[in-house]
Amino acid sequence: MNVEIVDKMGTDLSVVNAARVSFSKKSQWKRNIPTLNSYELSEKDDKLIKYLAKHGHWSPFAHAFLSFRIKAPIFVARQLVKHQVGLAWNEVSRRYVDDKPEFYIPFMWRKRPEESIKQGSSDEEVPYDITKIINDAEEMYNDMLANDIAPEMARMILPQCMMTEWIWSGSVFAFSRVCNLRNKENAQSETRMVTLELSKHMKDHFPICSKYLSDI
Ligand SMILES: Cc1cc2nc3c(=O)[nH]c(=O)nc-3n(C[C@H](O)[C@H](O)[C@H](O)COP(=O)(O)OP(=O)(O)OC[C@H]3O[C@@H](n4cnc5c(N)ncnc54)[C@H](O)[C@@H]3O)c2cc1C
Repeated sequence: MNVEIVDKMGTDLSVVNAARVSFSKKSQWKRNIPTLNSYELSEKDDKLIKYLAKHGHWSPFAHAFLSFRIKAPIFVARQLVKHQVGLAWNEVSRRYVDDKPEFYIPFMWRKRPEESIKQGSSDEEVPYDITKIINDAEEMYNDMLANDIAPEMARMILPQCMMTEWIWSGSVFAFSRVCNLRNKENAQSETRMVTLELSKHMKDHFPICSKYLSDI
């Protein structure tokens, strides 16, 4: 799995100034050393972001943007694509692409949970080997293509653990909502691997927004 940041627009200060324009005001950094990539907001601007986040004033946060290129298994993408508002998604299409498929094989198979079905899985390992079914699926896919079956149909026999790739762009507010929902223990751990990486990038690029938007 891979989460790469491909673009970014704005800073914590963009969010502050999107809010301050209401009163025709504009803030500056308290400290700004671009060569060290080191910026600091004034205390009152830090407090403003805290206030906006706490009271659900989402629109100033929609002026700060991130764009990611993500590679993850289909079953993870299937969960993440449910988050829609403030986000745009473009994904590789196996109607057009018939490259060798890649598969995600977990390093261990987790046991079904005993207490709550909502937990998804326990930490206990169940030894299991899926090499044969993966190899068979790939072999049949290649055979279908060799028999001139269209890629858009041959793909039907590929498993959910096949890797896919997409560009996911959206506002800091929208990605925070994704991370707040999916970084939790009740979310699937493979999906959490992606959203924890998203959170790290958010912290790097929008440290103050991330601090106050996480778990509002
Ligand atoms: C642990 C977990 C388990 C899940 N299990 C399932 C499952 O079993 N099956 C399943 O189908 N989904 C499941 N989901 C997905 C879940 O139902 C949501 O679709 C997903 O979390 C996206 O939520 P969001 O708030 O980011 O939605 P977005 O679509 O991005 O919407 C953002 C916000 O906009 C508002 N909004 C969006 N659309 C509307 C609307 N039509 N009307 C009014 N307000 C709206 C809501 O306030 C919403 O929170 C699960 C999610 C999690 C985190």
